[in-house]
Amino acid sequence: MTSQNTPIDRKLNRDDLILITGAGGFIAGSLVRYFHDLGYTRIRAVDRKPLPDWYQRVDGVECLCMDLSEKEHAIRAAEGAVEVYNLAADMGGMGFIEHFRVECLRSILVNTHLIDAAWRAGAKRYFFSSSACAYNTGLQKDPNVRALKESDAYPAMSERGYGWEKLISEMFCQEYWAERGLETHIARFHNIYGPNGTWFGGREKAPAAMCRKVLEAVDSGNLAIEIWGDGTQTRSFCFIEDCVLGIDRIMHCDDLIATPINLGSSELISINDLVTMVEEIAGVKLARSYDLGAPKGVAGRNSDNTMIQRILGWEPKTPLRTGMEKTYAWIATQFADRKAGKRVVKD
Ligand code: NAD
Repeated sequence: MTSQNTPIDRKLNRDDLILITGAGGFIAGSLVRYFHDLGYTRIRAVDRKPLPDWYQRVDGVECLCMDLSEKEHAIRAAEGAVEVYNLAADMGGMGFIEHFRVECLRSILVNTHLIDAAWRAGAKRYFFSSSACAYNTGLQKDPNVRALKESDAYPAMSERGYGWEKLISEMFCQEYWAERGLETHIARFHNIYGPNGTWFGGREKAPAAMCRKVLEAVDSGNLAIEIWGDGTQTRSFCFIEDCVLGIDRIMHCDDLIATPINLGSSELISINDLVTMVEEIAGVKLARSYDLGAPKGVAGRNSDNTMIQRILGWEPKTPLRTGMEKTYAWIATQFADRKAGKRVVKD
């Protein structure tokens, strides 16, 4: 019987090469630090962003700036890798994925080249970061949603652009296992948030955007906030520390080969209540206005964690309030640094 603290059997040597892509970004940056802190000595971190723009760069990690939508770069990145974690994608919050569907779709090139390169390089395991946006949008029309379970992806009617790219890339992972024997693992992330991620510039997601808007209101003295949609839309948000732990557990579970699984929290909250939470953390009360024409995504979405509990005996557990306090504190520091004229990473 597994439990929340069951040790992970990785079948991985300390000096096996681990490739992590999208490492200049939010989640993969934290994943690099996680494996480094566990004592893995050969980590190759790749992102197309120039190195000074990475959120985190960890000493002793090989950091490469490469565009992995180019086949030759994917081949070079996968050379010698024992495990490959593909988290590179052109993405952002609702504002980005509703306005830049072509960019989102083009991330298919990264996974297509990288999974083939990993297979040719003889990698043992391949991880793909899918999304709750792969789920059928028809099931997400009501804020009082039924949580989404893994089988709800089919019959398919994913989020236009971004969601379909994820679903097709999942299929690549499933067929590389079925036809070519590459061990693949797929997690459907549900709204990951936390420090060291995008908080301004247009790609940020709701939790970071709320923290920034509250900070701006306090800083300007104009105690008002604009909310996208009518604020009744509901979501669950998963803290970054739970996310990296979940990736590790999913990647090293023999019962989860080529089997998409939710990686998210089941603590559902409306956007209005999320704003209230950030106000409480900041110790302010703001006047609210609603932009009904702004991108707001589906009406409701939650993660059904029955499968992850059953197979891993584990699920994300960080309370939203705890994670939001840490996120707010980090964004407050970034906000102050930017105001003081220091360089901060945008996206
Ligand atoms: P992020 O934007 O912070 O990181 C993604 C990184 O990929 C960026 O640094 C970007 O420069 C890089 N990238 C994009 N195209 C590339 C290319 N052609 N070659 C090399 N690097 C490239 O996003 P994130 O939040 O860290 O997301 C990581 C993964 O998790 C993505 O696949 C995303 O779709 C998925 N995901 C994230 C969430 C979330 O809530 N953050 C939810 C669902 C799925």
